[in-house]
Amino acid sequence: MLSRRAALRLAGAAALALPAAPLLAAPLPNTIRVFSSSARQFDWRDDPFTLGVAAGAPRPDGFVLWTRLAPLSEALLGGDREIGYEIADEPTFRRIAQRGLARAESGFAHSVHLEVRGLQPGRPYWYRFFLGPWVSVIGRATTAPGSAAAALRFGHCSCANYEHGYFAAYRHLAEEEPDLVLFLGDYIYESVDRSPAAVRHHSDGEAATTLALYRNRYAQYRRDPDLQRLHATAACLVTWDDHEVQNDYAGAWSEDLLPPREFLKRRAAAYQAFYEHMPLPAASRPTGDAMRIYTSVDWGDLLRIHLLDGRQYRSRGACYGPGKGGGHVETLQSCPELVDPARSLLGLEQERWLYRGLSESRARWNVIAQDVLMARMQGTRPDGQRGAWTEAWDGYPAARTRLLTHLRDAQIANPVVVGGDNHAFWANDLKPDFDDEKAPAVATELIGGSITSHGPDYDATMRIAAQNPHVRFFESRQRGYAIADLTPARMETRFQVVADATDPASPKATLARFVTESGKAGAMLA
Ligand code: FE
Ligand code: CA
Repeated sequence: MLSRRAALRLAGAAALALPAAPLLAAPLPNTIRVFSSSARQFDWRDDPFTLGVAAGAPRPDGFVLWTRLAPLSEALLGGDREIGYEIADEPTFRRIAQRGLARAESGFAHSVHLEVRGLQPGRPYWYRFFLGPWVSVIGRATTAPGSAAAALRFGHCSCANYEHGYFAAYRHLAEEEPDLVLFLGDYIYESVDRSPAAVRHHSDGEAATTLALYRNRYAQYRRDPDLQRLHATAACLVTWDDHEVQNDYAGAWSEDLLPPREFLKRRAAAYQAFYEHMPLPAASRPTGDAMRIYTSVDWGDLLRIHLLDGRQYRSRGACYGPGKGGGHVETLQSCPELVDPARSLLGLEQERWLYRGLSESRARWNVIAQDVLMARMQGTRPDGQRGAWTEAWDGYPAARTRLLTHLRDAQIANPVVVGGDNHAFWANDLKPDFDDEKAPAVATELIGGSITSHGPDYDATMRIAAQNPHVRFFESRQRGYAIADLTPARMETRFQVVADATDPASPKATLARFVTESGKAGAMLA
């Protein structure tokens, strides 16, 4: 629950941030009152739909619809509540496809995770929720095609530090009207930035470590009108990176070297808050400190998306210890453990699940959606040793070789890796042996920058990139996202940037455009 202090602060923030004509909809039509039986003690002056709506987990016959009841007088909500919903064939709700009641669970912060079935494949729907006299903003979501699919437009984005900017990039992504959006991690930041670089501030003024604080963090992000608009525009798939819990954590191992049993309590709180605020199916309900979010989604015969969890099952960071709780640079000499084949970024069970899902895929394209940079990105140090950043796939080289070898040997159709985490745009060729400059790429990697989070030093990174010829493109000085237009024959990805992430009204521009032809891995600058 929001504390009263935080709620008041959020109310102030929302009043400043929301446009004069709010996203809130018209009064409830009379016909809907039948739904509001459990709403009697509710304070009617207080809008319960302040966090907007979202859709996720698209299938040919439905999707998951989300909202969370978060009125300022949240204590009045009490136990579980039934709220009304409608799904329509068109945006004016004259042709209703389904209506009924959905449960807002008090144990999960009055969030709703409605698993809708019985819809038609490959078409858009519009949906909204009701409680008492209030009606939510209208959301749109597209079901996955059942078989043949001619085209898909999907966005991918990551790293939206609220304190580092406004979410103009989210608004621009919404305006591109994607069929699907992939959130690839660092959807929230658990930390607080006390530096002058912060252009707006996280509520609570402290790092999120408890369920109440993580809930406040998500509630603050979800009150942002641009993020609300993006969720109302398209269904999404979500994976997490580190900042949904703690910077640079790996499995049960924290950056601050907490005993794993202690850290797992914090992780459980963070995972629960993630579930409460994302359009996830019941299969993702948290149990204890665990939560299954990796899954695959088929978009007809065009695409299978393999959505991975790069944090929960990670082996401990290489040479973890005092001063090395999070990401750091190691070499083979300093840390032979780095190349231990028993170490895995995905965990061996998820690895096996992924290899099987790739081999069984009948789709023309296979997108591997995950959180961190996969390409080798290593510079040679004065001692002649190559330095590896332990936090990305460079820290798990044996696992990376296993995956890329599988892509090659099992002849997986058109693998494309998308990721986030490092606040830069990348286009890379992926191959089992990065030292073999002549070897063809087996997969294409594209990373679509960060929504707001500050990027790594451009010149320093470029010097290292120059030693990694499989890196085709790098840019860390601008913020934005990627949007891909996929057909059976080709994938065209645009890297989109905002002029100034600290300006909520910032316009957008295209930084670069890449084309990957079916049957030929690698991104070509268009
Ligand atoms: Fe980040
Ligand atoms: Ca990260």
